[in-house]
Amino acid sequence: MNNFELYNPVNYIFGKDQVQKLAELVPANAKVLIAYGGGSIFKNGVHEAVTKALKGFEVVEFGGIEPNPHFETLMKAVQLIREQNIDFILAVGGGSVIDGVKFISAAVHYDGDAADILRKRILFKAGAKVIPFGTVLTLPATGSEMNSGAVVTIAATQEKLTLGGSALFPKFSIVDPTVIISLPKRQLQNGVVDAFTHVMEQYLTYPHEAFLQDRFAESILKTLIEIGPNVVENPSDYILASNFVWCATMALNGLIQKGVPSDWATHMIGHELTALYQIDHARTLAIIGPNLYKVMFETKKEKLAQYGKRVWNLSENSVEENAQKAIEKTIEFFHIMGMKTKISENAENIENTAEMVVKRFQERGWNALGERQNITLEKVQEIVEMSY
Ligand code: NAP
Ligand code: FE
Repeated sequence: MNNFELYNPVNYIFGKDQVQKLAELVPANAKVLIAYGGGSIFKNGVHEAVTKALKGFEVVEFGGIEPNPHFETLMKAVQLIREQNIDFILAVGGGSVIDGVKFISAAVHYDGDAADILRKRILFKAGAKVIPFGTVLTLPATGSEMNSGAVVTIAATQEKLTLGGSALFPKFSIVDPTVIISLPKRQLQNGVVDAFTHVMEQYLTYPHEAFLQDRFAESILKTLIEIGPNVVENPSDYILASNFVWCATMALNGLIQKGVPSDWATHMIGHELTALYQIDHARTLAIIGPNLYKVMFETKKEKLAQYGKRVWNLSENSVEENAQKAIEKTIEFFHIMGMKTKISENAENIENTAEMVVKRFQERGWNALGERQNITLEKVQEIVEMSY
């Protein structure tokens, strides 16, 4: 097992009506910026509940953070915070709003060009000067409510890039499973598939020496397979909703990543498809993931076979057959979850996608991806071409 540090300071507050606790969680006398997205929180009562709970606090609002949040939009909030002397940010929304707030938090005191935070992958270590923030989650999928990473798009150049570091953990996250009732079916489907792929990125790797983490990962995958199709149809079923929400958090709060190598190439390639064609994040993962497993079959087949046996209860004769069948089962599951697993089913004029993705990776010096750094640019080309 690899050496690791387990540090996760997020005060994670789960369950119905927990939003009432906001007044105790936000630092006393703080001037608070409430950051939100396109307005869903005004329709489902979340905005009302939050403002009621924050009665007595001085509050400023910043809305309009788009899905796959834009650097350009977030810089307006950075400006607002500087002008208004804000002490604390409350992100109210899904992964995009929370990720956006992580960037805002980091950028306010950053000297220099804030785009460098993304382009130069500046790490915000514990103790870095950032604006503290909490979250009220409205969309289970990304795990952003309990991790310190974020993804932001520079719209002008269509670059979707990451940032992070221990200084960017939320101080607290309020996670009420009843918020999923107002989610469109498409977003529920996306949430299940994003969480599922987060687990796969940390599980389908080599070497396989972390037995407990494997079992953690497999239990999340099995639970998502068990409840995914139902929760999409019945989001008001609290038992389904609460289990789904907890799975999504556990998939990417760092726990299953401890001591194991992780891949993340599916995400890195997927980000390009969102940047180029605005395909929903989870849908890019459903397109790329299975093709990556096919192209990297030789190095992933043993773990794929373990996944097939333990998660899908397969009992084929050989490692190869179990591994092959496991990929088919994954694609089948993604189809059941409403995913269309080809780029051409999600976007138009896609002929040069593989070349464009490879060129962008080359420009950034990303010549090899994956836990073994063996997903070369030739492999990336093959994976994307296989996805047309
Ligand atoms: P999202 O982009 O935050 O939200 C998608 C849509 O759902 C928005 O239109 C939003 O509307 C709506 N919505 C959210 N909550 C709702 C509710 N309760 N009822 C009705 N509508 C609601 O989706 P997401 O999947 O959570 O986040 C995707 C982003 O996270 C991508 O940029 C992805 O790359 C990133 N990501 C981050 C991590 C990480 O670890 N940080 C991991 C994976 C992915 P409004 O805008 O109107 O609220
Ligand atoms: Fe993701």
